Amino acid sequence: MKSQYVYYFGDGHAEGNAKMKEVLGGKGAGLAEMTNIGVPVPPGFTISTGVCTYFYDHGKTYPPELKQDVADNMAKVESSVGRKFGDRDKPLLVSVRSGARASMPGMMDTILNLGLNDETVQGLAASSGDERFALDSYRRFIQMYSDVVLEIDREHFEHELVAVREQAGAQSDAQIPAGALRELVATYKKLVRERLSRDFPQDVQEQLWGAIGAVFTSWNNQRAITYRKLNGIPDEWGTAVNVQSMVFGNMGDDCATGVAFTRNPSTGERKFFGEYLPNAQGEDVVAGIRTPMPITELEKSMPEAYNQLVDVYRKLEAHYRDMQDIEFTIQSRKLYLLQTRTGKRTGFAAVQIACDMVDEELITHTEAVERVEANQIVQLLAPVFDADEKAKALRGGRLLGRGLPAGPGAATGQIAFNAENAIRMAKDGPVILVRIETSPEDIAGMHSAAGILTTRGGLTSHAAVVARGMGRPCVVGAGSIKVDYQKGELRSEGHEPLEEGDWLSIDGTSGEIIGGKLATKPSEIVQVLIDGTMKAEDSEVYRNFDRMLQWADEIRTLGIRTNADTPNDARVARLFGAQGIGLCRTEHMFFADERILKVREMILARNEAGRRKALDELLPFQKGDFEGIFRELSGMPVTIRLLDPPLHEFLPHTEAQISSVAREMNWGFVELRNKVSQLHETNPMLGHRGCRLGITYPEIYEMQVRAIFQAAVEVKKDGVDVRPEVMIPLIGTVKELQLTTEMVHRVAGEVTKDAGVDVEYLVGTMIEIPRAALIADKLAATAQFFSFGTNDLTQMTFGYSRDDAGSFLPDYVDKKILPKDPFESIDQEGVGQLVRIGTERGRATNAKLKVGVCGEHGGDPDSIRFFRTCALDYVSCSPYRVPVARLAAAQAELQQKAYEG
Ligand code: PEP
Ligand code: MG
Repeated sequence: MKSQYVYYFGDGHAEGNAKMKEVLGGKGAGLAEMTNIGVPVPPGFTISTGVCTYFYDHGKTYPPELKQDVADNMAKVESSVGRKFGDRDKPLLVSVRSGARASMPGMMDTILNLGLNDETVQGLAASSGDERFALDSYRRFIQMYSDVVLEIDREHFEHELVAVREQAGAQSDAQIPAGALRELVATYKKLVRERLSRDFPQDVQEQLWGAIGAVFTSWNNQRAITYRKLNGIPDEWGTAVNVQSMVFGNMGDDCATGVAFTRNPSTGERKFFGEYLPNAQGEDVVAGIRTPMPITELEKSMPEAYNQLVDVYRKLEAHYRDMQDIEFTIQSRKLYLLQTRTGKRTGFAAVQIACDMVDEELITHTEAVERVEANQIVQLLAPVFDADEKAKALRGGRLLGRGLPAGPGAATGQIAFNAENAIRMAKDGPVILVRIETSPEDIAGMHSAAGILTTRGGLTSHAAVVARGMGRPCVVGAGSIKVDYQKGELRSEGHEPLEEGDWLSIDGTSGEIIGGKLATKPSEIVQVLIDGTMKAEDSEVYRNFDRMLQWADEIRTLGIRTNADTPNDARVARLFGAQGIGLCRTEHMFFADERILKVREMILARNEAGRRKALDELLPFQKGDFEGIFRELSGMPVTIRLLDPPLHEFLPHTEAQISSVAREMNWGFVELRNKVSQLHETNPMLGHRGCRLGITYPEIYEMQVRAIFQAAVEVKKDGVDVRPEVMIPLIGTVKELQLTTEMVHRVAGEVTKDAGVDVEYLVGTMIEIPRAALIADKLAATAQFFSFGTNDLTQMTFGYSRDDAGSFLPDYVDKKILPKDPFESIDQEGVGQLVRIGTERGRATNAKLKVGVCGEHGGDPDSIRFFRTCALDYVSCSPYRVPVARLAAAQAELQQKAYEG
């Protein structure tokens, strides 16, 4: 069958419709649909995205039949409006505009007023009775066409325009008289001739095909490529081209042009929202040369047109059942719609609009759940800067630089350059911890900080992962900012250096780093749910958030757990809706003040007896932590991972630290330094860590298991239901798992028997090493559950270091070697296959095997969708990602159902 390349719309009938975005692009589909439902749309036609694909596949040429198809459709437009393209008396003018499947606002090219030349401009003047308008349209066309198609910098034209405006003593372009415009047109044409050694094209067909080619070519301009990359739009989609008869918003004072949203796109308020310019063309609104007026003014100045607009927006919203973003033009008091599309909105607006539309019975609960991008929920939880204050600070030149937005939200505080100082200073007020990068020993400092800034590292760097877990605003990898620990200085070019104690503000949602103090406030949701400082009935944001997530819970089958290391994190996660803990990293408990000393004593002990003594002293601390967590999550499963990191992470590194620890522990400096260097590993992530520690120092794991079960027994005696799940990290062989599992059963048996209390528990393993995924069938004979540690699994499958891959991964993504950073979103093709294979093989041996994920991917919506296809039981993520995961799991479920039919 011959493919259709061109689709007509006009006179109440269109060949396309809203469902044909793939072929017609968003704009073309919208124009077709509006035409079909009786909204006033100037007639035109859409050249399909298939032509764009053809264009690129065939050395920038067109399918042979396209010329005729375009001519036929142009003839239809001509007969609809009663004007002819290129006619000297009644010329038809058209716009030529791009329109991809997904909206890419302003990224590609547009040409207006096409069809004007030295002759048709006179026809336009005569037929409109307005010479000035005709000349103004002509000079706009030359300017735009020269910029977009002939690639002459628009600045040259602007320069001439300003000169003419000044010469004419005009305040605005609209005041330049016809005579001056005629001269300007001549100057523009001369400019083109000088630059290109040929005349500005007078042949309207040449103009048309030049414009069509330019729009297709603009699909691959740098702006568009970057936008697609940032928004995950595939390069293969291509753009459509819309050729549409012009209507004019610049034909006098009863004309106007504008853009509007059917509801407020930042708050979601159900109120028509928009701006317009009287006597202007669309580009004037976009260019921001003149300040547009609020749409409410239109009601006063052109009431009939305003009422038509209100009718149309209601019709469109009812038809699309979603908030629309529209472009309109009013020509001689008559309204025309030039575009409608689903309006982009903030997370706040998305939730508000979805909930309102459920109440208005426009959409179902399920549709509401589909309407909110899961990641957008994060915005509702983050503290925020006062918008006016921030704008003022930016205007005042206080922007010091930008980094990667790693933990959303706003934070302001005094600079501390190390964890110790952060903890001390935090007692007196908010602190921003500023580090080149962070490590586990900074945890307490990070916890006490209001925000964290690093100058190195990517979105899965230590700082980023921990900050997100804590819900701390965080900006990482701010390379343009230099931190000098020696001098105690933060430098950014063009600004005075900042010292410890100076005020700094960071916006973890945008990545901006701003000098000085800025007022912030916690989100309403946190105030209601976590802090208890606001009542639910006083916060509509909270109530909507809660409703939305309840609807999500009714749909999803995937369980949502959390990665939490403290009773407080567990509490926060529970309040956000977590159904248990999927990963409690016990090592974080070791860093608190009194404990780190004991941990070091344990590591440095000269023999097992010494180690056991230190461990005995550590046990009460761990037991206390577990008790707190068990009580907090009464009745829910709590997965506790036995010690994982290599021991050297707990030891001091710099000479100064070594000397202070040596003093504290009564060791000689040299002796301690030797011990530290003896424990140093070249490749610690592949070294003596995880179950390897448990095998070589069984007493460490034994202490931890004892602490877990003593805590369990204790809280169970108080009538609290406990469900511990002991998890062994970094298993690579069956024997490792068998040995450690036997130990767990033995110690658990001893403790529970002594206490005379039964505790139901599970013992399972993390799957973090590719080998473990491959021998999952054998591991499942021993393990009662699997939890995929996709951070390490990604590291080991790719052979990329989690901590250093930031130095090349951005390039890899740029060069399309990888579609995304695999530490952020699961690599479905490779690492994902190991998850699938591991799950299938494990369940083949043990049908009851519980399987989850506890790497960072557990909070990433795309990864969650993939994990649902692998039929996992749950995902586990940091507390502040729990709401995102709940929503994403519901959306994954709906997709799965749709896929399975
Ligand atoms: C993992 O490797 O995915 C994991 C959860 O463990 P960690 O990040 O602590 O290594
Ligand atoms: Mg791991």
